[in-house]
Amino acid sequence: MLLLVKNATVYAPEPRGVQDILTGGGKILALAPRIDPAQLPGEVEVLDGDGLAAAPGFIDAHVHIIGGGGEGGYATRTPELAVSSCFAAGVTTVVGTLGTDGVARSMEALLAKTYALREEGLSAFCYTGSYRVPPRTITGDAMKDIMFIEPIIGVGETAISDHRSSAPTVQELARLATEARLGGMLSGKAGIVNFHIGDAKAALTPLEELVRPGEIPRSQFLPTHCNRSAAVFAAALAWARAGGYIDFTTSTVPGFREHDELSAACALRRALEAGIPLERLSCTSDGQGSLPRFDENGAFAGLGIGTSASLLQTFREAILGEGLAFDVALRPFTSSPAAMLKLRGKGGLAVGADADIILIDPRDCRLETVIAGGRLAMHGGDVRMKGRFEA
Ligand code: ZN
Repeated sequence: MLLLVKNATVYAPEPRGVQDILTGGGKILALAPRIDPAQLPGEVEVLDGDGLAAAPGFIDAHVHIIGGGGEGGYATRTPELAVSSCFAAGVTTVVGTLGTDGVARSMEALLAKTYALREEGLSAFCYTGSYRVPPRTITGDAMKDIMFIEPIIGVGETAISDHRSSAPTVQELARLATEARLGGMLSGKAGIVNFHIGDAKAALTPLEELVRPGEIPRSQFLPTHCNRSAAVFAAALAWARAGGYIDFTTSTVPGFREHDELSAACALRRALEAGIPLERLSCTSDGQGSLPRFDENGAFAGLGIGTSASLLQTFREAILGEGLAFDVALRPFTSSPAAMLKLRGKGGLAVGADADIILIDPRDCRLETVIAGGRLAMHGGDVRMKGRFEA
């Protein structure tokens, strides 16, 4: 069925003024100042976008879709992602990742969940591997996974500078990065390595050592949790200034901020003030990931859970709290991750792009409507597309 959004102020994410947007067959068919539904063939659902901003659906490129964690014992393993939580937060694309536990959780389960989310109407991709090096894969080889398994776009999240990592050597990381890179080149995918940066002093130093010989480009890496502390943030700014991508985590729990964590919105503003181009900045939720706290001796001290909702909250905070312009704040959630991860048809509103559209009230940044693949997923706070077993 055709779906027509009338009179919305379009941010593609660059401002395009008031336009009508016609979608059908999962794609944006037309974007023009006036599209008359009476002139269109067949049934057309019309949505009034008057006074609302239309933007690309959010891309959440670091989500523990089959759950994560377990750092406080088996009972602290977190649950799977429910698709409705994405739509409620304006997220229309996710990239799934395993995380700390690549033993009791498998790549096969991650891939199956990726396919399940697609069946539920979400655009879903995943990384191969877990915290550990060499990575846990499906075919036994990260390069093969990227080349032959369509939803797999790279490797991650691979942990460095963290007591939960496998303490990989620079040589091991170089091998992993070149395999991911070649797999990406041969399949036309990003082949990027998503690095979890932990609290250890080394921060991004292992990555700086990888790019120093000039053999692997910085764009091959996407370090995340870059706002976890002042020290990591400073190292991340240096990495980005030299041309690297950096990702900020939007989920947080009380107590983290006291340990000099920056909010993702504040990190965005400060990175922009430091002159980092928008194309190098992204935000992800770390959704369904555990947010364990450890005391100064490394002992487990409590647990929270990442949420998709934090992505939307951060977007609002970036505009209403940090003063970023609407079109500027949009990009780390849309066009920037789409380009970093080579997600074709994602992150922008244009004819031929995927019909992933959100409508937001620009005055208070309230999310009004979510269209995923041309289908109405959320409207007026009512999530219409849910998983089979959601109430
Ligand atoms: Zn992580």
